[in-house]
Amino acid sequence: MKVTSAKFIKSAVALDQCPSAELPEFAFIGRSNVGKSSLINLLTNKDGLARVSKTPGRTRELNFFKINDNWSLVDLPGYGFAKVSKDQREKFNEFVSEYILERENLCGTFVLIDSRHTPQKIDLQFVQWLIEAGIPFALVFTKIDKIKATPLNKHIALFKEAMKEWSNGEPIIFKSSASKRLGYKELLGFIEEAIQSQ
Ligand code: GDP
Repeated sequence: MKVTSAKFIKSAVALDQCPSAELPEFAFIGRSNVGKSSLINLLTNKDGLARVSKTPGRTRELNFFKINDNWSLVDLPGYGFAKVSKDQREKFNEFVSEYILERENLCGTFVLIDSRHTPQKIDLQFVQWLIEAGIPFALVFTKIDKIKATPLNKHIALFKEAMKEWSNGEPIIFKSSASKRLGYKELLGFIEEAIQSQ
């Protein structure tokens, strides 16, 4: 798939503010600083579409983009940021989980994971929650330019191993680097196939 147009549609802080659910939708989520904005800019070939390096946790809204006039991309707020109170965090999680569970045109959720680290509890907990809720997802290991192949593969293997505790299947896995422009063709191909198989 070649991205020929990418437009910001709107932001939402509640389910009833989301745009109409007419196009197949794909959501991106991960902890703050995982490289989500950079990956969205790479996928859409539009620098600055999603803002890079915001203050962690400051952005709490869902941002909707229309791609090629035939699918919708959603930038979900980063989870696991430290700068908000527990109460705020719960509220935020509530809306994101409500969106993920109830959005009828949501075809897939990409969970971004920083490839430089061994499995982090918060990422595993979120993936477990997705699996238990029956939500289709794929993992994207980001910033692979920052790590050598051996530790990268080890981190991925450890993540898959940790998932075995509550999951039988093999997860779908992508690797990306916004700096080196790696992984976007594979992701776009996957999205295209998912749209076609609808
Ligand atoms: P977000 O908070 O998840 O949206 O993350 P950003 O896209 O804002 O990126 C956070 C920081 O990581 C920024 O300084 C980016 O320049 C950097 N970054 C993002 N993706 C990559 C990548 O693939 N490779 C490297 N080396 N740095 C990256």
